[in-house]
Amino acid sequence: MTPVDPRADVLAGNLARVRERIAAAAAAAPRAAGIAAATPALIVVTKFHPAADVRRLVALGVRDVGENRDKEAAQKAVDVAGGDAVRWHFIGQLQSNKARSVARYAHAVHSVDRLQLVASLGRAMAAEQDATGRADLECFLQVNLDPDADPDAAGRGGALPADVPALADAVARTPGLELAGVMAVAPRGADPDAAFERLARVSAALVAWHPAATGMSAGMSGDLEQAVRWGATHLRVGSDVLGPRPAVG
Ligand SMILES: *Cc1c(COP(=O)(O)O)cnc(C)c1O
Repeated sequence: MTPVDPRADVLAGNLARVRERIAAAAAAAPRAAGIAAATPALIVVTKFHPAADVRRLVALGVRDVGENRDKEAAQKAVDVAGGDAVRWHFIGQLQSNKARSVARYAHAVHSVDRLQLVASLGRAMAAEQDATGRADLECFLQVNLDPDADPDAAGRGGALPADVPALADAVARTPGLELAGVMAVAPRGADPDAAFERLARVSAALVAWHPAATGMSAGMSGDLEQAVRWGATHLRVGSDVLGPRPAVG
């Protein structure tokens, strides 16, 4: 007899609804003639939720999960021990001294926002690849989309669009790192359409110089439709799949 797991049923229902929203948004998105409709990849953000939920999601066919704190992610990666079944995406602000840890479990880092972090990730990946032969680390450059961003507050909410080219070149020339594209969070209180239009322009400029860096990681529970409209390739959805995050103690 299959044990009853009500939580798995809840996650299955939520996941199905989110997948339907993504499919509908992708079908509605305007695109150039002759270009096949591409459904963006769904990264389910499991921060604050237990490793057991990650296992339930894997059983439901989820392969990509997102975490925003190294300590929590590293522990979950050990607990889930999914091997290739799970790809961990690090999406939170990352301190350089955590690069070594992140290189052990992460498939991708979506929050690369400064040169110092690129250097740390490069050193961490050199050591990790020596030890394990792991694949290159996918790097998304986090862009600050707030038009009034303080240029001196570097590393808060991403790099300024003007700093993206130098950051991209640094990632591209670092062995062990693969330049995947751009990432952003729509600024709080701002119109997500305007924010993602801005990100789409930053992305187009990046791709003109680095043709393989076509990734655009944008869109969360509340604004995934707008992100898809502007060409998101990777969506990071947490609460609409897992429910509200447990309060942090
Ligand atoms: C938490 C988080 C998400 C998911 O947000 P939801 O609103 O729960 O979908 C996406 N991106 C980043 C960077 C996050 O920290």
